[in-house]
Amino acid sequence: MAAPAATKRTHEQKLDLLAEVAVKVGLGLKEGQELLMTASLDSVPLARRITEHAYRAGAHLVTVLYVDDDAALMRYHFAPDAAFDKAAKWLYDGMGEAFRSGAARLAITGGNPSLLSNEDPAKVGRANRAVSQAYRPALELITRHEINWTIVSSATPAWAAQLYPNDSPEVALDKLWDAIFQTTRINVDDPVSDWKRHDAGLQKRAAYLNEKRYSALKYRGPGTDFTLGLADDHVWMGGGTTAGNGVYCIPNMPTEEVFSMPHKDRADGTVTATKPLSHQGTMIEGIQVRFEKGRIVEAHASRGEEVLQKLIDTDDGARRLGEVALVPASSPIAASGLVFLNTLFDENAASHIALGQAYSSCVKDGDKLSKDELAAKGANDSLIHVDWMIGSDKLDIDGVTATGTVEPLMRNGEWA
Ligand code: ZN
Ligand code: ZN
Repeated sequence: MAAPAATKRTHEQKLDLLAEVAVKVGLGLKEGQELLMTASLDSVPLARRITEHAYRAGAHLVTVLYVDDDAALMRYHFAPDAAFDKAAKWLYDGMGEAFRSGAARLAITGGNPSLLSNEDPAKVGRANRAVSQAYRPALELITRHEINWTIVSSATPAWAAQLYPNDSPEVALDKLWDAIFQTTRINVDDPVSDWKRHDAGLQKRAAYLNEKRYSALKYRGPGTDFTLGLADDHVWMGGGTTAGNGVYCIPNMPTEEVFSMPHKDRADGTVTATKPLSHQGTMIEGIQVRFEKGRIVEAHASRGEEVLQKLIDTDDGARRLGEVALVPASSPIAASGLVFLNTLFDENAASHIALGQAYSSCVKDGDKLSKDELAAKGANDSLIHVDWMIGSDKLDIDGVTATGTVEPLMRNGEWA
């Protein structure tokens, strides 16, 4: 059945299209595959639409793990102090087993971005660390792109209330859904083919950068004066990727970035974040850090500094960079003018860097290399991977070639 014209769709029809795009384009789900989905209780309508499209695409089994934000808070309010080093390792081991036996992975994000903001940062840090350790073996299958996976978002009341505090709950929720449909490219006549066209554009941008083979990028902007060396044999990627199981997937919806691997020992200078970072329910604002030889030697934040310090103390790799991404300041997410307080959207509104784990697919044949071989190329290793935004319409970026020639790459936040 053809979708109604973009301007005449009901909310239900848009939700259904988002689910269809997530299954067909995001996951590229194959007949006979299992699907493992995580969602919050407020995302049930989207999770059900996705479940239907997954079965229609031939899925044999769709399993949804629902997360209850209120129950998560109860732990902070009533559990004994000793509780916070515990994570459900059996659950993450089970997820890993599902991935190894061929399941695809879909995450619906959209929980309360400030859920844990008023909780004890030490407990938040311990709990996050425990989850990172328990999830690591399963997460590696994702970061190594061994299976097809994607992330989409659902609007939720708590999230909407933070973005639109002056509106009634109903109006706020409607506005957030509109923003999600708009930035996830659902408000077009044929979202599936529009996504394929968009994907091809990102691939082309990545191919251009791969031809250039820059050895470093130089960033200049308000509060930022920074040189970032790229990993040896780095590969720029954008849009979709063929996973190790042979399935073509687009891991993030929306996605506007082309990204690659920085060298873990080659970052120098000062970087200032251009947007607040919502990390595991805590807001961190006004981040400014200084790097020496790839390592953060000084870090400040105007809000949430304690959580930031705990985050970069997770392990040695948490003080180093695992991703560099370029996004024009005119992307649909930036054009919306919103700070979504959700990395999936905010990282596609601005150029960014990520602390922590590198994506092995961002070096040539990286998925076949051992940990030591990857490290020798400059790949960072960490329990965390946290993106933060450093791009704006005031940021200039230059590419430095192997012979030292400096070329303009972005000017005032746009491709030069
Ligand atoms: Zn990114
Ligand atoms: Zn990232």
